[in-house]
Amino acid sequence: MVQRILERGQIETLASRAIPRVRLPDGQVFARRAARLRQLAEGHAIGDYLRLMARVADAQQAALGAAIDVTLPTEAAIAQAAAHRMPPLAGAELGTGAWRGVLRAIADALAAERGVPAAVGALATRLRAAPDEWIVLQAAALLGGVASDSLDRAAAPFVMAALQVQWVALARTFTAERVAPLDVPGVCPLCGSLPVASIVHAQAPYQGYRYLHCALCASEWHRVRAQCSQCGNGKQIGYYTLDAADGGPTIAADAAAVRAEACDECSSYRKIVYVEHDAAVEPVADDLASLALDLLLGEQGYHRASGNPLLWQAGEE
Ligand SMILES: [Zn+2]
Ligand SMILES: [Zn+2]
Repeated sequence: MVQRILERGQIETLASRAIPRVRLPDGQVFARRAARLRQLAEGHAIGDYLRLMARVADAQQAALGAAIDVTLPTEAAIAQAAAHRMPPLAGAELGTGAWRGVLRAIADALAAERGVPAAVGALATRLRAAPDEWIVLQAAALLGGVASDSLDRAAAPFVMAALQVQWVALARTFTAERVAPLDVPGVCPLCGSLPVASIVHAQAPYQGYRYLHCALCASEWHRVRAQCSQCGNGKQIGYYTLDAADGGPTIAADAAAVRAEACDECSSYRKIVYVEHDAAVEPVADDLASLALDLLLGEQGYHRASGNPLLWQAGEE
């Protein structure tokens, strides 16, 4: 039997060609999101909402920066999850989490904000006074643990924002190499949540590759381009973008920084953002600011594959 021995240079060449499977969130994820939301809010039809969410992202960044206290899964639990090809952070404990303190900090930030609509002020007051059991129930409903008819839709984006801080903090304790692959390519390999959108990066070693961006922990995982992020179909994929001129459907203006990737096999779509066309794109912010594209895709008969964490949307029933 002949074995081919690779020289050092060849090994490096191969290694550099390997596509990084996972891209973990850095410590500035919410600061970037806040800046992008403010940028997109300028002259936008829902500019006030985007600015409000930018304020929420500021509060998230402050909480993340203050190094919130998270309970890590044990090494044994991580190994067990990997052995069963399960995401290691899927079962992170809601009842003991620091995220409830983050929610109150977000509510404080909103309450201190001048010029917020009365309804938002009232919501902030309600969240500050909410009992722990109610907050935990909301989180469980959002993360799919209990029936969603207990969900308070007005509070949902803020509860989700608090959960994001805890899960980003948890994700940041991992290294990409330690994240084991799952059998299900459509969910986050760390926390098991659905992606909010895709991003095509422009910097090495991620350049030109498409990653799905987790709605909860902001981790990203590689998925081949031109393949439906929902069902994996690789044939009947269409790209939609908003035509600035008339708002009508146009297939794939190649320079658009935000497009919708629609699949005729499963009739669903997700947005895909391109760093090469706009270096400031951020999956959660750009998805939120492109609601007009959602209306267009709805008119075309497609449904959203999954919601935006900062906007409660009715899922597929
Ligand atoms: Zn995740
Ligand atoms: Zn599909």
